[in-house]
Amino acid sequence: MDPRKPAAVGASVDTVETPALIVDLDMFEQNLAKMQAAADATGMRLRPHGKAHKTPEIARRQMGLGAVGICCQKLAEAEVFADAGIPDILISNQIADPAKLARLPALAKKVKLGICVDDPLHVERLAQAFDGSDERIDVYVELDVGMGRCGVPAGDRLVALAQAITAAPGLTFAGVQAYQGGAQHMRTHAERAASVAQAVDVVRAGRALLAEAGLDLPLVTGAGTGTYPLESASGEYGELQAGSYALMDADYARNTPGPEGAFAPALTLLTTVISTAVAGRAVVDVGLKGVTVEFGLPVPVDPDITARGVADEHCILVIPEGSPIRPGDRLSLVPGHIDPVCNLHDWIVGVRDGVVEELWRVEARGPGL
Ligand SMILES: *Cc1c(COP(=O)(O)O)cnc(C)c1O
Repeated sequence: MDPRKPAAVGASVDTVETPALIVDLDMFEQNLAKMQAAADATGMRLRPHGKAHKTPEIARRQMGLGAVGICCQKLAEAEVFADAGIPDILISNQIADPAKLARLPALAKKVKLGICVDDPLHVERLAQAFDGSDERIDVYVELDVGMGRCGVPAGDRLVALAQAITAAPGLTFAGVQAYQGGAQHMRTHAERAASVAQAVDVVRAGRALLAEAGLDLPLVTGAGTGTYPLESASGEYGELQAGSYALMDADYARNTPGPEGAFAPALTLLTTVISTAVAGRAVVDVGLKGVTVEFGLPVPVDPDITARGVADEHCILVIPEGSPIRPGDRLSLVPGHIDPVCNLHDWIVGVRDGVVEELWRVEARGPGL
């Protein structure tokens, strides 16, 4: 059975039950078109990241505009998107558990599937998982281009991994993933450009090492919402993995955009005021179970209101002296960071001109078992 729906299609936005994630469909469509146009203009493949929204309907819209496929961060996410009919999925992350790896051939039967590795053990276990299967998987070596998360440097380990993948039956060496996550939220264009320039140097070094070993580098995939024009212009990357651009969040809104301009703040969290008992404050009906704070407190859309704190079930807002806000009033907040916030909700409500036009299920939500 579907979880409780916050709204009915065709109803006024005033009837949406809160807390609810609201997408302004005009802004959302504008964001999708802007990113696809940028990819097309620079000859890049666009493979939007699905971890941001975890919503197959959004992925279908992205594919409809020309995306080549999507990225997922977790196997469980990829399985949901595959079942929803998305035909081409890159798991832009490592999987180490043999029991999870054993699920990959069945997934590769449904979709064109890719995955990242940064350890010979990954390659060995992937090869075991695909041994005896008719399916194949595209394997990308993840390069650490400065983020310090997963990935190997441009050095011997890169070459050894590419060779091991090439030698393994069932595995195809498809390229490298070079995502500089650390650059995405640097505030100025100049800082982001300097960071991506370093990433591009690592990619170039990796390409040269692979060439010395007689290996071609078929594709470099990476980039995010904060930096995609830089990777596009580098001459090294062939595929963009941006994800947040579709919905955006308050932290991305703090970036000073480059010449490409900003994406529109399409996602807001609609809340209801439950208490104004303390003068100068309004308490709304969402807390940490519906909004997260790792990239800062949610930002009220009304510039006269600021968030003061978020507890389990309450968000405390500071309102102007003498404000007419009363219990039952509704206030919209922009979440600090969309990915974990979408993950907390079952539905995204698509609104245009004050009317609920769509109700999208956040089907791939959860920790990714
Ligand atoms: C999160 C992520 C992205 C997308 O970044 P955004 O900032 O959401 O655009 C792309 N690639 C990888 C590997 C990621 O982890």
